[in-house]
Amino acid sequence: MGYTLLAARYTHVVKLRVLGSFGGDSPTCRMTSFVVDDTVAVDAGAITRALPIPEQSRIRHVLITHSHIDHTATLPFLIENTFGVNEEAMSIYSTRRILAVVRRHVFNNDTWPDFSRIPNRVYPRLRFVAIEAERPFVITGLPSGDLEVTAVPVNHIVPTVGLLLRQGGGSILFTSDTGPTDRVWQVANETSDLGAVITECSFPNRLQALADVSLHLSPQTLADELGKLNRPTRVLIYHFKPPYVDELRAELGSTQLPWPVEELEQGREYEF
Ligand SMILES: [Zn+2]
Ligand SMILES: [Zn+2]
Repeated sequence: MGYTLLAARYTHVVKLRVLGSFGGDSPTCRMTSFVVDDTVAVDAGAITRALPIPEQSRIRHVLITHSHIDHTATLPFLIENTFGVNEEAMSIYSTRRILAVVRRHVFNNDTWPDFSRIPNRVYPRLRFVAIEAERPFVITGLPSGDLEVTAVPVNHIVPTVGLLLRQGGGSILFTSDTGPTDRVWQVANETSDLGAVITECSFPNRLQALADVSLHLSPQTLADELGKLNRPTRVLIYHFKPPYVDELRAELGSTQLPWPVEELEQGREYEF
């Protein structure tokens, strides 16, 4: 009995499907978007580029890490494609500041309709849900059980949060886009059930000045960041900028990093 419980606890996985793993767009690079347990999207850079419409309709919750378009571009089309399919409104979660920017610049009735007022304010098909940094909340009704989400602020040129996602006995930490930062690595070190960290590398070392000014990482600053991780954890890298994909792969392969890393593969479904 005890053994069964223990086995069940340690075999639980967080299912993460990588729809887009890049920090820009090209025929082979889709922009940042993942789906957890088929129903919760993490960022929306390429959801409608990667999923057939029936699978888009299964997504009822979207977590947005920041307003940049490589993380939000297909949100308007996801909402339109799935509009009216489900009784329940789709929920878009982020901090109050980040949601305000998305609403002001996208759902402003000029760029795209404000679906949170359609068909009316009382029964909208879209809800913006403000979350607070470092305060865990739970999304219920997922196929594999409740998902606990904790937003952790990181260091990017616009307000941005990383996300700690926990389901059952496992969790993963997505830093989103960030330059050098500390708190999210402390959270990684404090999370005993952490199965993986997904963090970024955007520019090669020769473009360090650009990485610094845009608050992104290069292989050499990624090495510094990984030095803040004090426990062996699977580390996956995303957000290569499309012009530098080959260069970044080569450079990461020859950089001495404190922990081994692997590239987060677009199109793959991971179980962490
Ligand atoms: Zn980005
Ligand atoms: Zn960004």
